[in-house]
Amino acid sequence: MAETGNDASRKDWDTYFMDIAYMVSTRSRCPRRHVGAVLVQGKKLLGTAYNGAPMGVPDCSDAGCMIAEEIEVNITDGVEQVVRKQRCIRTIHAEQNLLLFTDRANREGSTVYVTDQPCWTCANMLANSGVVEIVYHRSYPKDSVKVYSLMEQKGIVFRQLQSYAPPEQAQMAVIP
Ligand SMILES: [Zn+2]
Ligand SMILES: [Zn+2]
Repeated sequence: MAETGNDASRKDWDTYFMDIAYMVSTRSRCPRRHVGAVLVQGKKLLGTAYNGAPMGVPDCSDAGCMIAEEIEVNITDGVEQVVRKQRCIRTIHAEQNLLLFTDRANREGSTVYVTDQPCWTCANMLANSGVVEIVYHRSYPKDSVKVYSLMEQKGIVFRQLQSYAPPEQAQMAVIP
């Protein structure tokens, strides 16, 4: 059947699946960051997940964020800068929940769309999960260099959607 799609408003697949990841992220109850992730095999959606506390225990909206302070070393133009950062450690990250709720057989050769660039731990887990492509939108500079290097070593396609705007109802301010 011939494509009749002259419809300029028709979404490309990247936009389509990233929009779904953003809509999934609105389920998150952590006020610091809403992250959504979806598993796609071919053009089929095989799983969705967001960051949240384990089932059956209070989440951030009930009990508040569980804040841990971390020391980060940023190097800008060769100058080292030590920065204190606060992170919420209550939640299981969206990518980790996605791995908990999907089967390995479904992940082999699949693509993950995730609203935010994976942190080191999530990237490390995704690298061992059967996924062959990871597409993200918002950057997460802290772990970016080592995550890109890992993806290169693993031969996993790792790309950022550049000219993409999330659905309005899924937008929130992220605390960096
Ligand atoms: Zn939180
Ligand atoms: Zn993570």
